[in-house]
Amino acid sequence: MSLKPLLPGSPSPNGQPVTLGVMGGGQLGRMFVQAAQAMGYATVVLDPDPASPAGLISHHHIKTAYGDEQGLAQLAQRCDAITTEFENVPAAALATLAAQRVVAPSASCVAVAQDRVKEKAHFVQCAALSGVSPAPHAVITTDASLAAVTDDLLPGILKTARMGYDGKGQVRVSSRAQLAQAWDQLDKVPCVLEKMLRLRAECSVIVARGADGQVVSFPVQKNTHHDGILATTEVFDGAIEAGLAQRAQASTVAIANHLRYVGVLCVEYFVVEQADGTHDLVVNEMAPRPHNSGHYTQNACDISQFEAQVRALAGLPLPAPRQHSPAIMVNLLGDLWFEPNAVRAQASKTPVSPPWAAVLALPGTHLHLYGKLGARPGRKMGHLNVTGSSVAHVRETAAQALALLGLPALGA
Ligand code: ADP
Ligand code: MG
Repeated sequence: MSLKPLLPGSPSPNGQPVTLGVMGGGQLGRMFVQAAQAMGYATVVLDPDPASPAGLISHHHIKTAYGDEQGLAQLAQRCDAITTEFENVPAAALATLAAQRVVAPSASCVAVAQDRVKEKAHFVQCAALSGVSPAPHAVITTDASLAAVTDDLLPGILKTARMGYDGKGQVRVSSRAQLAQAWDQLDKVPCVLEKMLRLRAECSVIVARGADGQVVSFPVQKNTHHDGILATTEVFDGAIEAGLAQRAQASTVAIANHLRYVGVLCVEYFVVEQADGTHDLVVNEMAPRPHNSGHYTQNACDISQFEAQVRALAGLPLPAPRQHSPAIMVNLLGDLWFEPNAVRAQASKTPVSPPWAAVLALPGTHLHLYGKLGARPGRKMGHLNVTGSSVAHVRETAAQALALLGLPALGA
């Protein structure tokens, strides 16, 4: 990859403004496009959906399938550098683009994040450097590997190696019989069985790494999930024990360095309780892109995760991001448009706008909606970032916003 920066605003050799492209037009692509445009880049999105959130706001929108040769050729022709906003983009498509243009992250890094078997193997290698291991696990690809599973992995969670997200493609099992049945239910695709751990907390770390090998880290994010989907992220000193937070950051840097990763990478961790009552850190999975748990950076840090993605892709400098406010991010799922809550006492079958005016009357609330046309339960429609001058203040404001939206209160 070229180390020469693609400076915004300057014409590229073909006389066009310097243009950044993204595979995928979801909300992450949209926020990448917004960050790129803010800095003066032109943008291109490739996504088959004519109403994709990023496609709607990009200079150009190529509406073909991700593997479509013509679509990829057009993307390469229009762009100086290309990134991705989701891990399931065909690795072959990225490799095709990389033959012609700067592509970050690389197809080989994305391939590791696409496959839990490769991902776990990478984490095991990095554990030797960082001291943070993945959960005890076994790879299941054949009846023989199923039979070879040891009892200490039960109860456990059987996860498909590919295409899982938001808790999908996972079955919890407590006996060998259930395990065999679950693998059948998952059509005997390659899977990983993980030992069920006692989670005390979940957290994630986002790093950005440039082509020159420089790597910077965002603060450690404490995440709470409901029904397998991220509900809130809290980021301030003390949200995660300081010793564990430092280890999580060091481990994420090691994971990025070991892959020679270029771009923004998010790694998820579990805080687990050990037999003696002390807490330890376990590495769970990674995403080769900005992450839902990093959305607070838009309002609470001097460089957002999306600006970091733009800088890493364009080869611009990457100073260490600084968080200037304690922050809480609340995910806004489509359910909010239907469920009765404190403001709208009646359950309704037709979508009703949530009480944004009341929420935005609270100081330090920042609303981000993704421009999705139809609200559906479970669909990520937007997020609310809450910032404040102190942890107590931000927690109080977030509590008020959650109550207005009829969402569960924050944990202790
Ligand atoms: P996804 O790709 O769906 O995010 P994850 O591996 O992150 O898949 O699992 C989803 C959630 O399930 C995690 O956030 C965590 O709450 C729970 N979980 C996953 N693995 C384990 C485990 N080994 N022990 C306990 N809980 C787990
Ligand atoms: Mg996860």
